[in-house]
Amino acid sequence: MNGHDEWLRSFPKAELHVHLDGSVKPETLRELAERQGASLPEGDLRGRMTVDPDCGSLTEYLSKFSFVLPFLQTAEALERVAYETAEQAADDGCLYVEVRFAPLLHTERGLTAEEAVKHTVNGLRRAERELGITARAIVIAMRHEGFERNREAIEAAARYLGDGVCAVDLAGDEAGYPPELHQRLFDLASERKLPVTIHAGEAGGAANVRYAVERLGAVRIGHGVRIKEDPEVIELVRSRRIPLEMCPLSNIQTKAADGWERYPIRDYMDRGLIVTVNTDNRTVSGTTMTNEYKLLAEKLGFGFDELAAVSLNGIDAAFADEPLKAELRIRMKRKLAEIGVALKE
Ligand SMILES: [Zn+2]
Repeated sequence: MNGHDEWLRSFPKAELHVHLDGSVKPETLRELAERQGASLPEGDLRGRMTVDPDCGSLTEYLSKFSFVLPFLQTAEALERVAYETAEQAADDGCLYVEVRFAPLLHTERGLTAEEAVKHTVNGLRRAERELGITARAIVIAMRHEGFERNREAIEAAARYLGDGVCAVDLAGDEAGYPPELHQRLFDLASERKLPVTIHAGEAGGAANVRYAVERLGAVRIGHGVRIKEDPEVIELVRSRRIPLEMCPLSNIQTKAADGWERYPIRDYMDRGLIVTVNTDNRTVSGTTMTNEYKLLAEKLGFGFDELAAVSLNGIDAAFADEPLKAELRIRMKRKLAEIGVALKE
């Protein structure tokens, strides 16, 4: 890292969209496998866990997760990778992180969905105590699962709401499983007073964003890159002040956006949308928040004031109560002043 990268790393940030199973460190995976009596191929595992630069589709991107999931089936593993995901965020300048994961993907060796939530939350709590970052969990329901299985995840989230869990999400194969399939599930989430964010407008079109907002109760949208396909959906997202959790490098890797020239983040900001920037998956995408900020500066000419606006949007859009947000805003502004970034008021 050169001096400029080091400075960007100290730039205060908030990360709202990062997947636990996409952010496992290769050396941790090897240790987990050894402890679990399994063997992994010799050599650096990073190549097997990170997409190629010419990654073809969301489906190919998602295939990277099947390599790590078999080793994330125990209390110890979940606690550790949760801690380390928050640790990576803290090392990357984040004051606040929301780490998301699908409990149903961690029940292959006997854990219940609720136990998976408990152990993940425990790891995040330890990171809060030791590292000074504020870390919350978002519980994901899976698109390919039916109502009964997904209900276990939603009920587990409800039990930990306000106690480590801050929201629920829907993720997986967007093109294969449209949001309409999960109406009943998100009616339940609403009954349980769970805040909702939904992956939409990534592998599917703008109509999925409309459905997520109007019918599934989404108050934030994961990605939303493709809302540019429908001006009415842009207006819906703007008028309802729905923050977008954009993940620039990931969006380009999965072809949700057609290269940097056509990446719509600045256009969305100019139109008054609330845009946040996130990694999506630190290991699978091979990125960090610092790298995302660097890419925005290098590829799209973002100035420091614009990066500061993105950081502050991350606090405004957080699934956190107002007193916590107010405190985080103060800390973020203080840190920006410390590193010499002047804010436009
Ligand atoms: Zn995601």
